[in-house]
Amino acid sequence: MTATATRLEQKRRLTGAFPGPRSQELAQRRSAVVAAGVASSVPVYAADADGAIIRDVDGNQFIDLGSGIAVTSVGASDPAVVAAVQESVEHFTHTCFMVTPYEGYIAVAEQLNALTPGDHEKRTVLFNSGAEAVENAVKVARLATGRNAVVVFDHAYHGRTNLTMALTAKSMPYKHGFGPFAPEVYRVPMSYPYREETDIKGEDAARRAISMIEKQVGADQVAAILIEPVQGEGGFIVPAEGFLPTLAAWAKETGVVFIADEVQSGFCRTGAWFASEHENVVPDLITMAKGIAGGLPLSAVTGRADLLDAVHGGGLGGTYGGNPVACAAALAAIETMKEQDLAARAARIGDTISSRLRAVAEKTDIIGEVRGRGAMMAVELVKPGTAATTKEPNPEATKAIVQAALAEGVILLTCGTYGNVIRLLPPLVIGDELLTDALDVLEAAILAA
Ligand SMILES: *Cc1c(COP(=O)(O)O)cnc(C)c1O
Repeated sequence: MTATATRLEQKRRLTGAFPGPRSQELAQRRSAVVAAGVASSVPVYAADADGAIIRDVDGNQFIDLGSGIAVTSVGASDPAVVAAVQESVEHFTHTCFMVTPYEGYIAVAEQLNALTPGDHEKRTVLFNSGAEAVENAVKVARLATGRNAVVVFDHAYHGRTNLTMALTAKSMPYKHGFGPFAPEVYRVPMSYPYREETDIKGEDAARRAISMIEKQVGADQVAAILIEPVQGEGGFIVPAEGFLPTLAAWAKETGVVFIADEVQSGFCRTGAWFASEHENVVPDLITMAKGIAGGLPLSAVTGRADLLDAVHGGGLGGTYGGNPVACAAALAAIETMKEQDLAARAARIGDTISSRLRAVAEKTDIIGEVRGRGAMMAVELVKPGTAATTKEPNPEATKAIVQAALAEGVILLTCGTYGNVIRLLPPLVIGDELLTDALDVLEAAILAA
C-alpha cells in the first residue's frame, strides 16, 4: 500500500472566531440568493480540501468524517483524480455519448462489470446521480419482467426525484409536501436488529417481508425488490445475517429482479468493493454513485446482460450521462482504490472506530448501539436510562454532539429515521493519527452530552 502525499497539512486547526468573518459574509450573500430549501449542515464555507482535511475561507482546518456524504473516499483532491480530470478536460468536456461516443465510458463499464459481484455476463449504463441510477434500474426491471410493482423497505433512502421519493421511506424532509408520488411502490419491514421486538433471525425477518409481499402484492406482479445492503440515510442499519441472501434467493425463484442500491455502500466503503459481498449476495442489478468518481458526478447501473440488453435502443440515456471528465475521474479513483487497497483500509478504519466507540459506550448510558461495516460506522443514541428498555431515540443529544465536535474542528453527519444516529464516513485515505484525533473529539463530545 502506498499512501498519497497530501498538499494540505493533515491537521485540525481553528484560527479563532467560528464561523469566521468570511464565512459569515458568504452566509449573508447566500441567504439573499440561494433557495432556502437547500440546507447545509456546516456553517463554514470551503476554500480548499485535501485528504481528510477541509480548509474554510477563514483558514480553519476541519477533519472531514463525512466525505461529502461518502463521496470523496479517495480523498478530497486525490492527485490521480486531479491529473486525470485535467488531462481529460483539455481534450473535450462533452460530446454526449448518445451522439459521439468515446473510450472512457467503455473503460468505466469494463471496470464496473469486472468489480461488481458475480462472474455472469454483465452490461453497464452510466448516469449522473444516484437517484437517476435507481430510476433507471427500475425502468430496466419493469421492461424486462413486464411487471409493475416495486418492493422497498422501511427506513430506505433512494433519492429525491419523483419515483425515488416514492421509494424513500422518510417523509420529513425528503417527501413532505412534494406528492403525489409514483404508484406501484410497496413497503415492507426491514431487518433492524437493534429495534426488533424479538430476537428474530435474518432469515425469519426476510420471510416476514416475503409473506407480506406475497399476500399484499403477489410475487408475479413484482418487477423488482430494491434494497440498500447497509441502509444509509435510514440509520446505517445492517440487516441481520441471512436477511439479504434469503430475499435474493426468493427473488431468483419468483423471477423478481433483485436490485442492490449500493450508491452509499459501494466502492470499498464497507471493507469490500460492494457491501453485497459480505454475504455473497449477487444482485441482478446494482446501482452505484457517490464514491465512484472521486467527487465528480457519475452514477451507474451494472447487472445481468439479459436484463439490460432487453431495453430497446435509445430507451436508456441522458444528455450528460457518463460525461467524459467524470469517466476519467472514475477510472483514476478506481485505480487509487486498487493501488492503495482501500477496501482493506476501510476494514481497519472500521475496527479502529468500533473498538473506540464501544469503549466510550462503557462510560455513558446514551449509546444504544455501535454498528456498521468497515468505514461506514454509526452510533445510535438513546435517552439516558432507556438503553436496556425502551431505547427512546435521543435526537437532542445527537445534535448537541455534532455541534460540539464541529466547534472543535470535526465534521460529522447524522442520519436515521429518528434523527438519533451519528454516522462516520471518513475518506478512506485518512491517516491513523488524524482519525484518532477526530475520535478523541467525538468521545469528549459524547461524554459531555
Ligand atoms: C445518496 C443516495 C441516493 C441518491 O443519490 P443522489 O446522487 O443524491 O441522487 C440513492 N440511494 C442511496 C442508497 C443513497 O445513499
